[in-house]
Amino acid sequence: MTCPFCDDIKRQPIIIYKDDLVISFPTNMPIVTGHVLVCPTRHVEKIDQLSNGELKAIKDLIVKLKKGLASSLLAEGFNIAWNEGKMAGQAIDHLHIHVVPRKTGDSGIHEYDPRKFLYRPGSRIESPERELKEVAALIKTNLG
Ligand SMILES: [Zn+2]
Repeated sequence: MTCPFCDDIKRQPIIIYKDDLVISFPTNMPIVTGHVLVCPTRHVEKIDQLSNGELKAIKDLIVKLKKGLASSLLAEGFNIAWNEGKMAGQAIDHLHIHVVPRKTGDSGIHEYDPRKFLYRPGSRIESPERELKEVAALIKTNLG
């Protein structure tokens, strides 16, 4: 069985941050501009399988991304969430955390139901790659 995120980690053309333990790249179906994913580079499905080192690396990267998103896109708040297990809406069995920058007046979905807003195939249109690259580059330069 192939994992699209393991493939992405090897070939992902739009990387905001990557080291031995973690990677961040934009989701191809953002709720709002700057909606990014954070994954361990190792294939794990659940938080239980993360090493303490991976957990710390994920936390540190989220903190870094928050600063980058606040600087680059004027984020005032964040939805930080992941879906674990099919019943919770985990569509790809490689643990991934959604970091969604929020600001007053944004046009994204505000109600909190991960199954409704984080992954609904066909419910949103894909952003053009050029736009994703521009946003990723903007965030990347603001990671601090
Ligand atoms: Zn994987």
